[in-house]
Amino acid sequence: MKKAPRIILLLTVFLALASLAAAARPEGTMAFAVSMEQPTTHYYHVVFRCEGLKGETQDFKMPSWTPGYYWILNSARNLLNFRAEDGAGGALAWEKTAKNTWRVKSGKAAAITVSYDVYAFERSIAESFLDDGRGFISPTGIFMYVAGRLGHPVTVSLEPYKEWSKISTGLDPVEGRPNTYFAPDFDVLYDCPVLMGNQEILTFEIKGIPHVIAAENLGTVDRARFKSDLTKIVEGAARLIGEIPYKHYTFIFMDGGGGGIEHLNSVSAFFNGSGLDSRSGYLGGLSFIAHEFFHLYNVKRIRPVALGPFDYDRENYTNMLWVSEGISVYYEDMILRRAGLMTRDEFLERVRSYITRYENVPGHLFQSATASSFDTWINFFIRGENGANTTISYYDKGAALGLLLDLKIRSESKNKRSLDDVMRTLYWKYHKEMKRGFTDEEFRRECENAAGCPLPEIFDVYASTTRDIDYPKYFSLAGLEIDVTPKELPGAFLGAATQTQDGNLVISSVEWDSPAQRGGLSARDEVLALDGIRVHARSMDQVLESKKPGDKVRVLLARRGTIREVEVTLGKKTERSFQIKPIADPTLLQSAVLEDWLRED
Ligand SMILES: [Zn+2]
Repeated sequence: MKKAPRIILLLTVFLALASLAAAARPEGTMAFAVSMEQPTTHYYHVVFRCEGLKGETQDFKMPSWTPGYYWILNSARNLLNFRAEDGAGGALAWEKTAKNTWRVKSGKAAAITVSYDVYAFERSIAESFLDDGRGFISPTGIFMYVAGRLGHPVTVSLEPYKEWSKISTGLDPVEGRPNTYFAPDFDVLYDCPVLMGNQEILTFEIKGIPHVIAAENLGTVDRARFKSDLTKIVEGAARLIGEIPYKHYTFIFMDGGGGGIEHLNSVSAFFNGSGLDSRSGYLGGLSFIAHEFFHLYNVKRIRPVALGPFDYDRENYTNMLWVSEGISVYYEDMILRRAGLMTRDEFLERVRSYITRYENVPGHLFQSATASSFDTWINFFIRGENGANTTISYYDKGAALGLLLDLKIRSESKNKRSLDDVMRTLYWKYHKEMKRGFTDEEFRRECENAAGCPLPEIFDVYASTTRDIDYPKYFSLAGLEIDVTPKELPGAFLGAATQTQDGNLVISSVEWDSPAQRGGLSARDEVLALDGIRVHARSMDQVLESKKPGDKVRVLLARRGTIREVEVTLGKKTERSFQIKPIADPTLLQSAVLEDWLRED
């Protein structure tokens, strides 16, 4: 009598669990196989087999962009030889219905296998590459997804070129199946680039969590020191936020190129050993790595709502790349400072450099940090001759805004809270608890909660308009002063940058509101002579050095095949140093803020 109800209960629980499992389990399987027999053709061959899909047709899609790189790449342009078959090898009809969509008429087929080749020969961190020395897979440009099924688990089997022995990726390996990896869904697959080749592998562990450095060319850098410094970076970032949220992490460092893209448990970057022998070069390298690493929190998990889940078809707009990128710039140096890898003066010098970069770009008169974030899709990666006149970098201004926020929160909270508290709240409350990103208003609210007061100047003025930042006011909160007085430099100012093209001296850009612009000089003009004397780049600089502000100079130039002469009145060359130094008599609060802000952990 006693047993029966228990059996029924157990059976009920079992059935409930079984039906839950069935509901959660996706239909069928999805598996990729990627081969590359002739890598010098630069073609990956991809076979994508899907079993158990239901529906008369299936749309196979190639993402149009890759998260972290806010630019429409249209990787579908690299795709060739698309074919679709049913499980028995019979051809299935298909048609293209959009630039990145292949609609397969699958009917009742139990399995669909599509295959295609992808041309991969871009040396961009966002795009794939293949030759006989390297196979780099930027997954959004190699792996298609089935429309509506981004949440489907998937495996990837790689058949690397026969000369290669190493595969490095953030994907989880499938036990017992060599060179085969698993992703729980396509967002994870798209977040895990793969490097194949004969790269050097270094490893270290933190709290039992393996970290892999996969590097093509570390040069002569001291491996033990490098590993120890990366350990300090990882530990410092984890201490700041409060946990390490991955099971393993891979640093992919390729030789020769520029840039890096952050991922949930990996980074792909162009980074090599050259230039690491000087202290500034080494620290610059570590800052770059700390930036990309810190992104695993800030942007991959602490994120604006627009940045995940992603729409891979089109632009994903946000006003807050200044937070995701700029505050990561701010923290890249803070992490090194707290780890004792960077001195206080070196940290302040890095602050000085992004403030100077931002202030020297005439675009700061026209574009705010929020507008720069929103419009990155149309202009961040196009820095043409007029780019600096009209746009800013949200990296530089965002870092400056992060610094203002940090100092203001520290001072207003009587040195009890800081921007760290905001980052932790965003991580634990929005990412971990609510499992979502935050809105513009929520980010502001969390900053104001930490400060304990409204922050209209930072948000309504400095972040969203082009109004000048009152740096001295904010630096004084930490008992520092910053020199913003313009100082006149010797020589005269023209305001035109030049470069040599086919042996000719050509104007590459003309600065906004400069003597060159007022005098009628233009980008693409070829400069032939100044005051009747033939010039090249160096002699033009010499002529300008010998002039005074107010002097007139006759510029002979060629413009679209015709020769003309214009007269330019030279201006004053001024510079603001933005040198930062302590004030003489700080208050107790100013001293406390400074000490805590620039402390070592
Ligand atoms: Zn970044």
